[in-house]
Amino acid sequence: MSAVAVVGAGPVGLTAALAAHAHGLETVLLEARPRLRTRPGSRAIFVHRATLDHLAAIDPALSAEITALGLVWRTRSTLWAGRQVHRRTYPAPSGAAPFTSLPQTLVEDILLRACDAAGIRSLWGDGVRTVTCRPDGVTLRTGEGAVHEASHVIAADGARSTVREQCGITLEGTASATEFVVVDVDASPDPATAARVFHYRHPRAGGRNVLLVPFHGGWRVDVQCRRGDDARQWAATAEQWVPALLPEVSPVTIGWSSVYRFQQRVADRFTDAHGRVLLAGEAAHLLPPFGARGMNSGISDAVAAARAVRDGDTDRYASERRAAAQANVRAAGAALDHLLARRRGQRLRQWAAAAAAPLWPSAGRWLDAAPYGPRMRAVRY
Ligand SMILES: Cc1cc2nc3c(=O)[nH]c(=O)nc-3n(C[C@H](O)[C@H](O)[C@H](O)COP(=O)(O)OP(=O)(O)OC[C@H]3O[C@@H](n4cnc5c(N)ncnc54)[C@H](O)[C@@H]3O)c2cc1C
Repeated sequence: MSAVAVVGAGPVGLTAALAAHAHGLETVLLEARPRLRTRPGSRAIFVHRATLDHLAAIDPALSAEITALGLVWRTRSTLWAGRQVHRRTYPAPSGAAPFTSLPQTLVEDILLRACDAAGIRSLWGDGVRTVTCRPDGVTLRTGEGAVHEASHVIAADGARSTVREQCGITLEGTASATEFVVVDVDASPDPATAARVFHYRHPRAGGRNVLLVPFHGGWRVDVQCRRGDDARQWAATAEQWVPALLPEVSPVTIGWSSVYRFQQRVADRFTDAHGRVLLAGEAAHLLPPFGARGMNSGISDAVAAARAVRDGDTDRYASERRAAAQANVRAAGAALDHLLARRRGQRLRQWAAAAAAPLWPSAGRWLDAAPYGPRMRAVRY
């Protein structure tokens, strides 16, 4: 019997396995995908300082490698209908980087190499199909009939979590009707000049909101669709409209495109009735990409779950991480509300802030920050 079986080798499961192993717990990692299959797209491109600190506590070399590979852009800029309303360039960090920006796939590669180096047993290409929870442990059965016994399970098997479903736990919440198109452009942004730019009502995107984010290996382009837009068609024809939004990149090579909605969902419980299965990451909560709360909060879950297993305190895990997820959902909801600006008063406030920004910098700062939702001071993702 393993002390811990981690289900799912995404960023959250890989971190959970590393954290559990670092606590001296015998750990096995179970993943449905074949080991060599590369996952498409950049997905989470922003690794927060808090996440780097979590990884450094497991192994300082992990955090250092991810930081060194990623890009730290220093300028934030916001435009309203093509006119700049906020721009700020931060000094180059003299100490620890405030964040680092790189594709999730590269973070996963680094975490997997660390798992291998630590000698963590990982089994690939055979997903968990059934879960039996008892007061003294958990039995997992895979699609190919393998049986794994574990004292505890950390379920990091993503949004469609089989483990969550087998435990009778449901996700509660909403998904926005508004769709967003996300595109990766292959490029090598210059860290000294690359800026994260948010456009309200971009004139070259038919007045739609557009977010441009540089990262190691490319640019992320997010377009907020309007009612009636065919988001899949936008994603499929990205090479036609992206060049107008990224004039500094030539030629434009599209690496990946997709469509998503703002999801704001949290599991009704974060553990099973016996406190033997702990949900983490997207198995436990779905959050939108804006604000970069998804992967970062999942990695916080992973670290807390491993600690809870070590300390035998899964109730505390369940209440603290669920509260953190709910706080993140509230922040995401505020961000979406701002982006959609459905009420006349909101539109007027945004318009007034854009008009006042040249004389009143705090109005520009507010426009710059609002699409990401309020900063979470009390909760570290
Ligand atoms: C288009 C898009 C853009 C995104 N952009 C951002 C962003 O900008 N910022 C951000 O923070 N986040 C972003 N995200 C979200 C981010 O990708 C997720 O938060 C992150 O992948 C969650 O990690 P996870 O490990 O919980 O789940 P996953 O990465 O989904 O990993 C789950 C793993 O479990 C495996 N699995 C599933 N079922 C089983 C089973 N039954 N048995 C064994 N293994 C199983 C899967 O194969 C997978 O490897 C984005 C996501 C998408 C789709």
